[in-house]
Amino acid sequence: MHDVVIVGAGPVGLFLAGELGLAGCSVLVLEREPEPGSPWRGEPLGARGLSVASAEAFHRRGMLTSLLLASGIDDYPGADEAAPPRGVGHFAGIVLDPAGVDVAALPFRLPSPASEGMMTRLDAIESVLAERAVKLGVEIRRGVTVDGVEQDEAGVVVHAGAHEYPARWVVGCDGGRSAVRGLAGFEFAGTEPLFTGYVMLASVADPDKLARGFTLTPMGMYLRMPTEGHLGVMDFDGGAFDRSRPPTRDHLQTVLRRVSGTDVTLDDVHLVSTYTDRAKQATTYRRGRVLLAGDAAHIHSPLGGQGLNTGLGDALNLGWKLAATVRGHAPDGLLDTYTAERHPVAAWVLDWTRAQAAAMRPGPHGQALQGLMRDLLATRDVTTYVYGKVSGHSIRYDLGDEHPLVGRTAPEFRLADGTGLGDLTQDGRGVVLDFGADRRLRDAAARWADRMRYAAGTARNDLGVSAVLVRPDGVVAWVGEHEPEREAFERAAARWFGAPES
Ligand SMILES: Cc1cc2nc3c(=O)[nH]c(=O)nc-3n(C[C@H](O)[C@H](O)[C@H](O)COP(=O)(O)OP(=O)(O)OC[C@H]3O[C@@H](n4cnc5c(N)ncnc54)[C@H](O)[C@@H]3O)c2cc1C
Repeated sequence: MHDVVIVGAGPVGLFLAGELGLAGCSVLVLEREPEPGSPWRGEPLGARGLSVASAEAFHRRGMLTSLLLASGIDDYPGADEAAPPRGVGHFAGIVLDPAGVDVAALPFRLPSPASEGMMTRLDAIESVLAERAVKLGVEIRRGVTVDGVEQDEAGVVVHAGAHEYPARWVVGCDGGRSAVRGLAGFEFAGTEPLFTGYVMLASVADPDKLARGFTLTPMGMYLRMPTEGHLGVMDFDGGAFDRSRPPTRDHLQTVLRRVSGTDVTLDDVHLVSTYTDRAKQATTYRRGRVLLAGDAAHIHSPLGGQGLNTGLGDALNLGWKLAATVRGHAPDGLLDTYTAERHPVAAWVLDWTRAQAAAMRPGPHGQALQGLMRDLLATRDVTTYVYGKVSGHSIRYDLGDEHPLVGRTAPEFRLADGTGLGDLTQDGRGVVLDFGADRRLRDAAARWADRMRYAAGTARNDLGVSAVLVRPDGVVAWVGEHEPEREAFERAAARWFGAPES
């Protein structure tokens, strides 16, 4: 019996597997695909944008350098500057100007090795994560399609054909069409689609009939990506296309011509996939001993590139909470804070994609919204707002504490000796940073030494606080101001880390 069976070795399942392995849990990952590295996960179709928050998650576990290497990125900004962003992305194809971001208005920002988002690929992310998970003792079994999940109070049994895999907990990280979600009876609520999206790699007879980048048209939107023949189309058909069969070349050409308003010709289509803007979310991310993370918990269109980032955030949030539950020291209700904290984040992402679909909708209503958004997005305040949202900078969990740093990802505090927060978080424990000269919290923190690290010293920039308690997912759980109170610290430590050892 494994502590945890994870269904799906996509980026979310693998990130979670590493987190659980780091905390000493026995983990089995079951993956349908017999081999990694399908063409959908490499260049160019597997290209994905990672947010600052996701880059930070890799940094905090010591994987940022490997990810940059695997992604072939050699111009990532250095650690000594709180660099302005180089890209902000788009809203419904309206590209935002990074120079419009008011960096000073972003809350609690310090220079960090993970100062920027990046363009990478699914295969690069998965190779880095799989290597780490295996090193930490995780077993990944491929060519296994899960088709049954049964649970009782003592455990869960996962079925795949004639095989059974017993576990104490199961996490469905099996993507947007999640089998686990259906088998375990999760309610999946949301809205039906306005459009069908197509992604393809094609030979185009006359590519220059299509503009480069995102083009909004009166009929929807199309994209011409830098790799020749890599195209996207969004066709406002109300999601009517039957996605159970692959679209033919003729169908794709008809749709592309209609949406682009050109007579472009597709000679051949090598690879094609479809999606919709159906926006749905599991109403809870936990039913008994079965949990969901990533696309299994929330689906929406790729507009704004947030699915993977949201899923990685789920994995980071869930990993340490599930590990503490498995190991028996989780305080009451800890596991349920996973849904409480992560559901609102995905709910916003769903709305963000819905708003974009509404603005792209053919006809005067969509055009009116587009015009309004174009004006707003040209302002500094709105550009900064959007950057705060899509980069992850403005995510804040409601932990019931008024201090504005509590509930946010901790900035990269750095001690005078050069030690940064990211150097202290790699073993997956919580961290107490004590900036006071009298080491006031040392003895208190020692009571949870198996679950948190204590580091003291003068901070290069303490942002006006004297101590912080950082959870294993990098989120600030408590802040000490002026002279940190030992009792307040101990209350926060017990709330998130359970009863102390001594
Ligand atoms: C065109 C496009 C562009 C995108 N761009 C971005 C972007 O720029 N930024 C961003 O953040 N997101 C983006 N996304 C979304 C992102 O790709 C997904 O959100 C992300 O891949 C979800 O990861 P996951 O691990 O949850 O699921 P998946 O990547 O879908 O992985 C699920 C895994 O589970 C396996 N599996 C499925 N069923 C079973 C089963 N029954 N048994 C065993 N294994 C199973 C699958 O084989 C797969 O390996 C984009 C999506 C698309 C379509």
